[in-house]
Amino acid sequence: MSVVTMDKKAKLLRKTEHERRIVADMIALYCRKVHGSKELCDECRALAEYADRRTLACPQMEEKSFCSQCKTHCYRADMRERIREVMRFSGPRIVFYHPWAALRHLYYSKIRKS
Ligand SMILES: [Zn+2]
Repeated sequence: MSVVTMDKKAKLLRKTEHERRIVADMIALYCRKVHGSKELCDECRALAEYADRRTLACPQMEEKSFCSQCKTHCYRADMRERIREVMRFSGPRIVFYHPWAALRHLYYSKIRKS
């Protein structure tokens, strides 16, 4: 395996981990504030697990920056509704926890699409 390929793989892995963490944090924040639960409630845990699986299974991770900007809608309709709710709530708030510029894209593209 060439060095270039290794580097690409490592980058991809970091990107995936990054996205997984943000999505998980957003759902946790949403649940804490909206559902008032200390731990993830059942509904949010199901959503978090679902979102995590989608991120891991994503065939477009290399090209896209975030699921919200992806052309492939791999989320099931009901899950998409729920994640959109979470984004709407947590998007503007999570930037204080994760001051990554990419988050702005995540947030705005989710809103605009709806
Ligand atoms: Zn919840």
